[in-house]
Amino acid sequence: MVRTLSFRISSLIASLLLITALAVMMSVWVSTYRFAQAQISRDLSVGSNIFQQVMGNRNQQLTNSAEVLAADFGFRQAVATHDVDTIISAMDNHSSRISADMMAILDLNGIPEVTSHINTSALASLNKGLNFKSIVARGGASLVMPLNGKAFQIVMVVIKAPAPIGIAVIGFEIDTRLALQLKQITGLDVTFLVDQQNFPTKLISTLSSPSPTELWSSIQPNWGVSFRDEPLLQSVSFPLYSSESGDIDVLVTDDLRRVFTQFDQLQLTIIAIASLAIVLALVTGILFSRQISRPLRQMVNITRRIATGQYKNHIQIKAQTREFNDLVDAFSGMQDELHDREEKITFQATHDLVTGVINRQTFTERVQDHMNLNETFTLIGFRVSNFRQINDMFGPTTADKSLINLCYRLQPLVPLLARHGGSSFVAFLEGIIDDGRLNKLAEMVRLASEADGLNINFEVQMGVVTYPADVENSIGLMRRLDIAMDSARYAHNCIHFYKAGQEEDYVKRLKIVEDLRSAMRDHGRGLEMHYQPKLNLQTGQLNRAEALIRWIHPEQGFIRPDLFIPLAEQSGLINALTEWIIDSVALQAALWHQMGHNIQIAINLSMQDITRADMLDIISHTLKKYKVRPEQIAFEITESELMQQPEQTIERLERFRKAGFRLSIDDFGTGYSSLSYLKSLPVTELKIDREFVMKLAEDVNDQTIVKSTIELAHRFNLEVIAEGVEDFRALKMLSHWGCEWAQGYYISRPLPADQVVEWMEVLKTQHELVSLARETAQV
Ligand code: C2E
Ligand code: CA
Ligand code: CA
Repeated sequence: MVRTLSFRISSLIASLLLITALAVMMSVWVSTYRFAQAQISRDLSVGSNIFQQVMGNRNQQLTNSAEVLAADFGFRQAVATHDVDTIISAMDNHSSRISADMMAILDLNGIPEVTSHINTSALASLNKGLNFKSIVARGGASLVMPLNGKAFQIVMVVIKAPAPIGIAVIGFEIDTRLALQLKQITGLDVTFLVDQQNFPTKLISTLSSPSPTELWSSIQPNWGVSFRDEPLLQSVSFPLYSSESGDIDVLVTDDLRRVFTQFDQLQLTIIAIASLAIVLALVTGILFSRQISRPLRQMVNITRRIATGQYKNHIQIKAQTREFNDLVDAFSGMQDELHDREEKITFQATHDLVTGVINRQTFTERVQDHMNLNETFTLIGFRVSNFRQINDMFGPTTADKSLINLCYRLQPLVPLLARHGGSSFVAFLEGIIDDGRLNKLAEMVRLASEADGLNINFEVQMGVVTYPADVENSIGLMRRLDIAMDSARYAHNCIHFYKAGQEEDYVKRLKIVEDLRSAMRDHGRGLEMHYQPKLNLQTGQLNRAEALIRWIHPEQGFIRPDLFIPLAEQSGLINALTEWIIDSVALQAALWHQMGHNIQIAINLSMQDITRADMLDIISHTLKKYKVRPEQIAFEITESELMQQPEQTIERLERFRKAGFRLSIDDFGTGYSSLSYLKSLPVTELKIDREFVMKLAEDVNDQTIVKSTIELAHRFNLEVIAEGVEDFRALKMLSHWGCEWAQGYYISRPLPADQVVEWMEVLKTQHELVSLARETAQV
């Protein structure tokens, strides 16, 4: 079982003391025992000697007295003449004088002749047990013997006249009085045990009510320690008489308590001292161990505190042992190291390790703090959109350095700056930012970053959200910041302020992307190509058409391509979609061709399609599959997209041209392309944006633009097509200005493939168009 240190120390001390106390008691007991034994046996042997002397003296007195009686002349004469009356009166006289308990006259054979105070039968035993011849020869005898079950001290004296004529016997009963006298003299208890045939055992003793067994066992006593008040006896015995008819034994007894009371006292004292010592030991043990365990406990508390991550407090424990102080030092060291390590880990967990600014998680928490204080603030997210190129071009080390520089530049300008993602950052500003400050910040961000001696230019898009105007919780805020940053790509100056409802739109768009993705997985289910015929203003022919995609969403119905095409571009779905379009268009071209209609179909391509390395391979492969020639297909690319990567695009487009495809610059007039650039573009056609065409008949500005564009295109040997022709007047104008092609609702809306041919036939018969074409042809 696990115990406390103080318990262990105190119990150790206490048990040591207990053992010591027991050992002391043991040795005291042994020596006391030995001493007591020696003393008792000495006392007993002295006592026995005295007893025997006293008994001897008494015998002598009795003998003297008997001799006096036997020497009396009158008495002798009475015995010789058998004068019984005289004998009796003399015996009575004598016995009362010496207080004898019995008197008798025996003949020389021991047969009683006259008795006093005792019956004759009692004396019969005398006769049996003794040799009277030798008694007569010796002149008398003295002995102790049982008579009538009692013990008697008997003296016999031969009565001579002058020859022996009889024996005078005088007896004294051994009684308690004698025993008490003996006790007074010896200082020991005296017991006579009388055991005579036909009589109950008689006990004459100075002891209060002892039993014979008890007495006999006290000869070999059990030397135990006694605290009780019962007698603890030790005796020596010797026989006073022993024959077939009975025994008389005497026991001289000493009470051991006398010796042992002192010893008991000593024992008690030792126990008391030992107990006191144990209590003292426990107390000092507890105090001592407290002294040891107190710093240990403190240490335990400190360890617990460290476990909860509190390292700051200096460990202040002063123990009285060097080992413990060493431990404290080691602990302090450990605490410091833990502290350092945790700081490091915390830093790593809360900061971006490349730039050293805080990470997104920490930023969100800090922003939450400001929200909790109900502050108004602005978050600005920056995305370095060309970071990937920078990385590819200069290597990751230099690219990282450029980001570090950017952070270094921005940090003094904003209270809080964090890395938001790979190449995006987010800054916190108090209050609502004004345009001036925002532009200054944008300028700072876009400043060339110096890294490894290189000047690196960042293309940066910035999204702005304000709290609480734009959103009320931190997660939503960060999400809307992402949306704003995304939108910034298409915004003027690449700065976008989050607009109300934008997230909802965003979610909707996400759903569209998801649904489009699953439609693509399902072989373009719900997707269909429509074709819008193009009218040749010079020949009146309708032998070209633009392929325009249609998507009937299972829930939302018709979705405009200018909504989902940009989404497909943003989500990387456009490549698959274009492949699907090329496949459908090529199939359609093949079908028309089989039907004898030579219609050139223009496919709209996104920039991502153009930059795809395998685009041309895919196109040729598909065309081969349906046995379609390149002349049957043309491509349209918007001007604004062409302007994104001018050099690369030129190179790509040249390959398309080499493969035999016609190329058209779509939405011309919206992309601000320069003349020199236009000149170098390997295209065959300019397609004037419908913005300038739809109200051409009414808008003089549009007329100027369209007319000069047509002229310009012709200078560069490019054909011109106008889209968005919605009325005859516009068509006429275009025709007059030499525009080669026209496309628009006035001619035809985009149609499903099966209606196109039919509709073309109908269109051919349209009076106005035909005559216009003829007119133009004449000019
Ligand atoms: P876009 O290439 O400029 O296509 C011409 C758009 O003008 C078509 O819209 C067409 O329906 C519309 N239009 C034609 N004549 C008139 C007219 O007289 N008045 C007016 N107001 N509009 C006219 P649509 O089909 O909604 O397509 C919108 C845009 O979606 C296209 O503009 C094109 O950029 C994109 N798009 C459509 N189909 C595809 C496709 O298959 N692939 C790619 N990459 N983009 C496509
Ligand atoms: Ca187009
Ligand atoms: Ca267009």
